[in-house]
Amino acid sequence: MQKGTIGVTTENIFPVIKKFLYSDHEIFLRELVSNAVDASQKLRTLATFGDFNGELGNLDVRVTVDEEAGTLTVSDRGIGMTAEDVDRYINQIAFSGAEDFLNKYKDTANSIIGHFGLGFYSAFMVATKVEINTLSYKEGAEPVLWTCDGSPEYTMGKGTRTERGTDIVLYIDKEDSAEFLKQERVDMLLRKYCRFLPVPVISGKEREWKDGKWVDTDRDLVINATEPKWMKKPSELTDDDYLSFYRDLYPGEEEPLFWIHLNVDYPFNLTGILYFPKIKSNFDINRNRIQLYCNQVYVTDSVEGVVPDFMQLLQGVIDSPDIPLNVSRSYLQADTAVKKISGYITKKVASRLDELFRADRAAFEKKWDDIRIFIVYGMLTDEKFCDDAMKFLLLRDTQGQYFTLDEYKTLVESAQTDADGKIVYLYATDATAQYNYIKAANDKGYNVLLLDGQLDNHFVGLLERKLENTSLVRVDADVVDNLIRKSADRKGAGLTPAQTAILSQLFEDETRKVEKASFVVQFEALAPADQPVVLTQNEYMRRMKEMAALQPGMSFYGELPDSYTVVVNTEHPIVKAITERADKALDATVEPLLKTIDERNADAEKIRKDAGDKPLSAEDDQRVKDLEKEVSDARTAMAQDIRRYGDTEQEVSQLVDLALLGNGLLRGEQLSQFIARSVEMMQK
Ligand code: ADP
Repeated sequence: MQKGTIGVTTENIFPVIKKFLYSDHEIFLRELVSNAVDASQKLRTLATFGDFNGELGNLDVRVTVDEEAGTLTVSDRGIGMTAEDVDRYINQIAFSGAEDFLNKYKDTANSIIGHFGLGFYSAFMVATKVEINTLSYKEGAEPVLWTCDGSPEYTMGKGTRTERGTDIVLYIDKEDSAEFLKQERVDMLLRKYCRFLPVPVISGKEREWKDGKWVDTDRDLVINATEPKWMKKPSELTDDDYLSFYRDLYPGEEEPLFWIHLNVDYPFNLTGILYFPKIKSNFDINRNRIQLYCNQVYVTDSVEGVVPDFMQLLQGVIDSPDIPLNVSRSYLQADTAVKKISGYITKKVASRLDELFRADRAAFEKKWDDIRIFIVYGMLTDEKFCDDAMKFLLLRDTQGQYFTLDEYKTLVESAQTDADGKIVYLYATDATAQYNYIKAANDKGYNVLLLDGQLDNHFVGLLERKLENTSLVRVDADVVDNLIRKSADRKGAGLTPAQTAILSQLFEDETRKVEKASFVVQFEALAPADQPVVLTQNEYMRRMKEMAALQPGMSFYGELPDSYTVVVNTEHPIVKAITERADKALDATVEPLLKTIDERNADAEKIRKDAGDKPLSAEDDQRVKDLEKEVSDARTAMAQDIRRYGDTEQEVSQLVDLALLGNGLLRGEQLSQFIARSVEMMQK
């Protein structure tokens, strides 16, 4: 019987393992089963090269829970170990300064396990005693029994195994780790970590429901009955294979739209299958759906850093021995190998999309609305992907037609180029709410895009940056005649100063009733058949506010009221009639008041001008003040006159209300007043 001390430089590594690796303690099972699978595969390899001539026989790995005895055993029929092997691989932990290392990386338990050959020792996170009962495949080998109770002392003597292979027996710590003596818990963990391992892993027996309870059958429960399809060649797989694999991974979910089979062996190894699920909205809820494997062993479902952010909207499997999975996230993001992998995946996804687009445009269009958010998100966050995506990006108009960027440019170029030679793309963000504006634009021969996605206010900016000499304008940004300005100057409205003063106030007074919005009145001589009053929202101001609302720090701008322009069509017969009536009723008072205002202002201005740079004398100062008072009195008088008149002028109220109604801004009391007034006017 050999006795010895495990060869680590630290006094006792087990308390360290227990303490630091505690949060991740379930992974011990992954480590032990992977070792067993490795041992089995090594034997297969030896056989292939003629270095092992015996019977391979059944190579299943078995995990056995014995709740009564308090043990969990992982058994394999792999290469086994001789006493020298145990000495070399188990007794000599293969690095020095273990404690320093553990201290340094205590937050990343995975970094030690696996990478530094401590996998086996993770058993001590859950066991008070571990036995290795093993018989090497080598001819004439003696069975070995190694035991260790968690102190650095082990014993090693003659074992009991008569068949080639290894049993790792864990005497589970009943105080802290009793859960690992429960069959269901162990099965669950095996399904999580081991379902794609290349050697069958068996955990107890299949169960069936009999006489009111679950009983074991005599059939072995094979954990990894699911094939790791990503390891196969794409040419060996049918669509059904991909779909059934998807169902294995995500039972009960809607079928994916399409998939991408990843397969590289240079300059790094990577395989996998990524699925495009239907992404409707709220993409945040679907994160962590890509599973990361290392040689078919499940590692994590948190792929942050390994794939670009937007790819996390996808589902599926990535398997790579080259991703340094065992290091911290921040390191991962800086790692050049990982950057290359991430870049490769992005490229591959883009070229697959391009291929699908080219192969079957109609099918691609059908799926477009479901993948659009993914593509837009990718374009906004990944420069390279953006450049690739420009080739298959589709724009959808409000009629439901799809265009590539080139096609769209050709479509609208002639009708939608403004006086400066800029192409103007019109868009709507809500086909229902903006129906009126869309119709007006269509009637004028313009096409209108539908950009109603969650990320579209960013997307609009992106298109403007990427497309040459093109600007995007929402259909309600101006009256249709001015959306795309064909000549440099704006038409005058043809009103006298008095008419302008009267109408401005009449319309302004009417808009005051809307809360949380501000209005500016503007007069335009549009066509007589155009709408009499149109509400527009300046493109620039609206975008500022929308962007601000999305940014936490800018809430000040986000809380500004929505600002609208009330465009009054002075050529419209109703507006003309209103103008005439108001002129008649008010001209006698407004005209002289305006004259007074102009004169007093001019007088005050002259006094200031005569004084030049010198301060005004006390006398002049008083005169200016008096003049200013006269101006303000005149203004007040004028405002009162106009307001008094306005109270009797129902048509202005009616026109403004109609415009508000068209924008969903007429509600509550105002709406009810509008209805009452409409009825009243119809009875006249
Ligand atoms: P790693 O697997 O990362 O090398 P481990 O601590 O898990 O580190 O195992 C150390 C070594 O012990 C393995 O490399 C292998 O040579 C040997 N070993 C562990 N488990 C078995 C087993 N079930 N059968 C044969 N050899 C094993």
